[in-house]
Parts: sequence; C-alpha cells; structure tokens
Amino acid sequence: MKLHRAWVGLGSNLADPRSQLVRALEELDRLPLTRLCIASRLYSSRPLGPSDQPDFINAVAELETRLSPLALLDQLQALEQRHRRVRDRHWGPRTLDLDLLLFDQQCLSMPRLTLPHPEMAQRAFVLVPLAEVAPDLRLPDGDDVATLAQALGDWGSLMVLPNR
Ligand code: ATP
Ligand code: CA
Ligand code: CA
Repeated sequence: MKLHRAWVGLGSNLADPRSQLVRALEELDRLPLTRLCIASRLYSSRPLGPSDQPDFINAVAELETRLSPLALLDQLQALEQRHRRVRDRHWGPRTLDLDLLLFDQQCLSMPRLTLPHPEMAQRAFVLVPLAEVAPDLRLPDGDDVATLAQALGDWGSLMVLPNR
C-alpha cells in the first residue's frame, strides 16, 4: 500500500472547541495506517453564514496515510460522529467538522468526496493554517497555497490563539 500525504481541515464552534480540536488531532494520529506529521496552530474565525453562533476554532493537520481517499473519509466521518455524541442516546449539535482538503495531488468528483475540497481556495481559515504547515504546497491546478492565502487579503477576524 502506497504512502500518501493528506491535509485535513478541522473546525469546531461548540462544546469547548479548543479541546475538541486538541483531542481530534490526537485521534487523527491514532487512525489506522495513519500518522499525524504536523498540525498548525489553532486559529479563531468568525462563522460563515449565520453570525448568531460562536466563533470557530480552526486548524489544519498534515497526515501520512496508507488508506485510500474514501477509507480516510470513512475514518474522518466516524471521528466526527464520536465527537457529535453529547450523551449516550442523544446526538448533539455538530462539535467537530473534518474536511479532507487535499490527498496527494488527486482530483476526484464523487457525491461523497470532492478533491481538492471545493471551497478551500476561498477560505482564509483553511488557507492560512495550511500555508503554515505546508508553505510550498501547490493545488493540483498549480496554484500555490501560500500565494492564495495572501491573495485573499481579507483575513477577517482570523486570529492565532495562544498555545494549545
Ligand atoms: P463545506 O464542505 O462547505 O465545508 P460542511 O463541512 O458543513 O460544508 P458537511 O455537512 O460536513 O459539510 O459535509 C457534507 C458532505 O460533503 C459529506 O457527506 C461528505 O461526504 C461530502 N464531501 C465531499 N467532499 C468532501 C471532502 N473533500 N471532505 C469532506 N467531506 C466531503
Ligand atoms: Ca467544512
Ligand atoms: Ca465537512
């Protein structure tokens, strides 16, 4: 099984988002056939869409994995489900979002999985932490992640949080 490099965007705005993310990073490192290479610092961003909700905490993780893209997505979704479970019999609101941003230089367009993640080039809370962990990374179309991050210019209220 070939060794792949994958980048995951993490987000949370409920139920102690900072510890959701710290825990999720540890869990990513423990996924089968996968290890966490590097994680960005934690960032705070204003929510997309409705603003009557708490700010998000975001980060990006770089993984090495021998899983296929869909098998990795299965693992990410299972991990989200575990974080959504607030009590045994109740599904709480979403407390963790894990988006598969890039998987090597693969392009995929399936109902369950689009690669690269279709919105990533427009989102400062993805591009800025991604450029932090992988400053030389390019998208499959050749665009340079760090340049895209700078080009966005408007980083809104994106802020680096002090130590995890
Ligand atoms: P956005 O994708 O705009 O950030 P979201 O994260 O809130 O929105 P979800 O409800 O988490 O969206 O996911 C909706 C569906 O997107 C999932 O069922 C998943 O199968 C699909 N999907 C497609 N491509 C990807 C990807 N690259 N990473 C994660 N999920 C994806
Ligand atoms: Ca998302
Ligand atoms: Ca998602």
